[in-house]
Amino acid sequence: MKATAAVCEAAGRPLRFREVEVAEPRATEVLVRVTASGICHTDISIMQGKIPFGLPGVVGHEGAGVVESVGSGVTTVRPGDKVLLVSPSCGLCQPCLTGHPALCAVPALRWGGRRLDGTAVLTMDGEPVAARFLGQSSFSTYALVEERTVLKAPGDISDDVLAPFGCGVVTGAGAVLNVLKPQPNQSVVVLGAGAVGMSAIMAATLTPAARLIAVDMVPERLALAEELGATDTINGAETDDLTAAIKDATGGGANVIVETTASTKVLRSALPALARGGAMGLIGAPAAGEQVSLPVVQLIMGAMRIEGIVMGDGTAPFLQALMRLHRDGRFPVDRLVRTYPFDRIEQAMADAESGKVIKPVLTFGA
Ligand SMILES: [Zn+2]
Ligand SMILES: [Zn+2]
Repeated sequence: MKATAAVCEAAGRPLRFREVEVAEPRATEVLVRVTASGICHTDISIMQGKIPFGLPGVVGHEGAGVVESVGSGVTTVRPGDKVLLVSPSCGLCQPCLTGHPALCAVPALRWGGRRLDGTAVLTMDGEPVAARFLGQSSFSTYALVEERTVLKAPGDISDDVLAPFGCGVVTGAGAVLNVLKPQPNQSVVVLGAGAVGMSAIMAATLTPAARLIAVDMVPERLALAEELGATDTINGAETDDLTAAIKDATGGGANVIVETTASTKVLRSALPALARGGAMGLIGAPAAGEQVSLPVVQLIMGAMRIEGIVMGDGTAPFLQALMRLHRDGRFPVDRLVRTYPFDRIEQAMADAESGKVIKPVLTFGA
């Protein structure tokens, strides 16, 4: 099967549209015709060489599409089904078996670039191209993925809105609903009002938390955060003391802080604003090796938690619940999305990088 993919040939180089050959589905695999793919900062980091991945390679990990064909052992989807592509998992390791597939202990499923047996999923001019990026490589008109990486989706969610559920949306919403779980009348502070932060805010409106505070430096984003349910906003560009601003807005300290900015400077400023018994979830990843020193005594005496969160610790039932909430009008992901035709991928990336657009989504015309 031939496909057109946006190939990253080397770090820092512009993407090139190339014809690639997609392998035939094996027993447990599903060939998906990609109809939409969100752009996430992890894709951009790979292309900039900040995160290692085999190159030439095809990234993209917020795909949605239609099942084209399935291997002989596939039981959960059929050709013609609309599907969301999700984080890959093996189904057999300890995290997978205990309900945490986002923590699957087989990293080669996410970063290996090939099947686990080393065979290529994509080739170009007869040579292997790294694919299966985060289980997907959705910057391509077709993606060959494992059955566990597809989730049947309701037909009435438009593809461009569906696509980001697989990473940005589940990451922000899951951090709040699965991990940090704000309690009645608590305060939730979301650092960074990008796609992950906005998803965290929308999720927090579904909890008994009383105050939802969005922190960002872009006034338009703060305005949208308010429309989506934030009760207060802090413009980080207008305050020189973020710690005091958060304490002020929360009446003394934040019960829950969701860190999505990937800035250790922001993290350092927010940490002292955590209330006793409070929890901070770390989602935005700074450069590898970056460190932050901890006020250990305050953390102990205040019984505070700091925890890293991957993909919102999401599961298939959780994603199904989010999709249902969206259809019921209680989780308006559509407010975050702006679409670009696939051939405008460079523009979409630039708009993601500059922060002009919250969630750029590529659409693939038939
Ligand atoms: Zn992502
Ligand atoms: Zn696993």
